[in-house]
Amino acid sequence: MALLEVKNLEVKFGLRTGEVTALRDVSFTLDRGQRLGIVGESGAGKSVAAFSILNLISRPGYISGGEILFDGKDLSKLSAKEMRYIRGNRISMIFQDPMMTLNPVLTVGAQMVECLQAHTKVSPQEARRIALEKLKLVQIPSPEKRLDQYPHELSGGMKQRIIIAIALLLNPDIIVADEPTTALDVTIQAEIMDLLLELCKGQNLGLILITHDLGVVSQVTEQAIVMYAGRIIEQGPTKEIINDAQHPYTQGLINALPQQGIPGERLNQIRGSMPPLHRVPNGCAFHPRCDYADTICETELPGFTQSGGCKAACHLVAGRISLKSKAEETH
Ligand code: SF4
Repeated sequence: MALLEVKNLEVKFGLRTGEVTALRDVSFTLDRGQRLGIVGESGAGKSVAAFSILNLISRPGYISGGEILFDGKDLSKLSAKEMRYIRGNRISMIFQDPMMTLNPVLTVGAQMVECLQAHTKVSPQEARRIALEKLKLVQIPSPEKRLDQYPHELSGGMKQRIIIAIALLLNPDIIVADEPTTALDVTIQAEIMDLLLELCKGQNLGLILITHDLGVVSQVTEQAIVMYAGRIIEQGPTKEIINDAQHPYTQGLINALPQQGIPGERLNQIRGSMPPLHRVPNGCAFHPRCDYADTICETELPGFTQSGGCKAACHLVAGRISLKSKAEETH
């Protein structure tokens, strides 16, 4: 049994106009030392998936179905106290914006010591020693000096290294990183991703990386999930997905990568946008944006078709519609 096993997870949000389903039938596993990327545009459901693992979905959202088994226990059924122990001690989260984690009025050292003492029985001296050890681990320059600095005295890249050091304080088994480099410039993004990769390998950490960027997923993860309108639409080994994507949405994301474009020309984009939760189209939710959509796509939800190590939810991949007939239609 894998350390983390998410089975048929479903999340709903109760709005004034009625309930909407933000996540449907999401299943995956993760073990120590494995790296999984969850990718999709904004509104695809990837952050909802990450937040539900840590039971951080707040009202009006709630987990309405499925299981999140961690070490055999269903996290969605734990008390707030039990969940607090899991968060931090066993699973840590790195948020997109460092200021969501860092307290601007406390020094880095004070925050790290406070975090350690809230979860373990260590003396302030021992907590400071552990904090320094973690700052060294994330290769922050002049780590002793950083302990006595305030967040506003640090660059964006340094703040993100400190967030990673805080996430490592209690030696978790898994780190969930939600768009950890979005707020940083490109060269720093690459450094932080390299650091995360190195730490996962060196510390045998499991990583769930949430991102809109398939390029980042290909750089860091071994397995990938592509999400659209709250569902998984493609899942499998990252290399296979990048080299031979089956689903038209994944193909669109790959074609939109800057490295696929011609210098000086506009980047390829998937036309249209992600539907809002209360207006997810029937059938395949991607059909209004898909170049291959046929009548069946408007009414029937596609099931998964396995191809090599990957599976994709698409009628075209399943052979239920043909590329040929669509090509004829467009000429
Ligand atoms: Fe496109 Fe149809 Fe496949 Fe959906 S099921 S991705 S609309 S071809």
